[in-house]
Amino acid sequence: MYDFLFVGAGLFNATIASKAIQQGKKCLVIDKRPHMAGNIHTQEVDGIQVHQYGAHIFHTDEKSVWDFVNRYAEFNHYVNAPVANFHGKLYNLPFNMNTFHQIWSDVITPEDAKNRIESQAKAMKESLAGKEPSNLEEQAISLIGQDIYEILIQGYTQKQWGRPCTELPASIIKRLPVRFIFDNNYFNDRYQGIPIGGYTQMIEKMFQGAEIRLNTNFFDDRENYLNMADKVIFTGMIDEFFDYRFGTLEYRSLKFETEQLPIANYQGNAVINYTDAQTPFTRIIEHKHFEFGQQPTTVITREYPQTWRKGDEPYYAVNDDKNSALYQKYKALADQQNKVIFGGRLGMYRYFDMDDTIMAALKVAEQVL
Ligand code: UDP
Repeated sequence: MYDFLFVGAGLFNATIASKAIQQGKKCLVIDKRPHMAGNIHTQEVDGIQVHQYGAHIFHTDEKSVWDFVNRYAEFNHYVNAPVANFHGKLYNLPFNMNTFHQIWSDVITPEDAKNRIESQAKAMKESLAGKEPSNLEEQAISLIGQDIYEILIQGYTQKQWGRPCTELPASIIKRLPVRFIFDNNYFNDRYQGIPIGGYTQMIEKMFQGAEIRLNTNFFDDRENYLNMADKVIFTGMIDEFFDYRFGTLEYRSLKFETEQLPIANYQGNAVINYTDAQTPFTRIIEHKHFEFGQQPTTVITREYPQTWRKGDEPYYAVNDDKNSALYQKYKALADQQNKVIFGGRLGMYRYFDMDDTIMAALKVAEQVL
């Protein structure tokens, strides 16, 4: 008998487990995969930490969250500054003075940039006539103008989400900064970095003191697992837990194509986005640049967005009206019982950054401990 059963060995459960273990609770962790750390899992290949389920850059504005992760890993000084490749021309991201000058070579000062964007957004703003943008295209053009929308947003976004920008919510790009200074830092947060030695090591430390069973699928013996602990924290798909009784929630999936190359430096940056509509992948990650690696070889990953089908890895929740309403039905069921708590991207059906995941988990830890 355990105090806690954690279904899923990712960041959400690791956060709660670290607190439970500190209080002397008896914890069991099961995960169907052969490794720890869920989607932030990193695997070392010839000295390079490879982010196996997509690049993860830790960033937060919350000092308490930063202090928390620094107990389990030392973070390096990596600052995310992705570059966009559009038909062979390179542009700095996020949208800042470097980008504006690269797009419009006569734009030199912040005032030039503001005027150019204003003149490009004018027609869209007039057609909105004071109304809020109703989709991503309207949001993007009124924020940053037609040229940047066509070069840096339109193709990338349609590949990422599998539908036209006119059918996507404006909220998706509200998180991208627009700056009138020469600053390529992708995030506005005060704290940022990558754990030295990889995320998996960090998660293993957080779970230290718990019993861990990998290659162990909760659904193979569900009743037995539910009876093994006083409390269960489940970070799998909430609709699967309830046997899809109201229907399946939709996700976006990703396919990763990883290769090791016999050269030291393939693209000169950790992240290069391919923002045109024709290139089938959205970005190439060169993992060593997340940690300033000096190895003689390199590992790169091409990332292809995919339609999700049952059995595929789910990565992003599709938080449109239809799916959000369906999730609310599952959430109502979840709220009716008090043994199992649902957490993480799949259990809460939400787009979580890592720091949000930790904050949500710390809240649960406070409730249950
Ligand atoms: N985006 C874009 N062009 C880019 C990068 C991002 O238009 O070069 C948009 C796109 O709509 C994407 C959103 O910004 O879905 C958020 O992208 P981000 O890279 O921050 O999200 P991630 O997929 O890394 O979580």
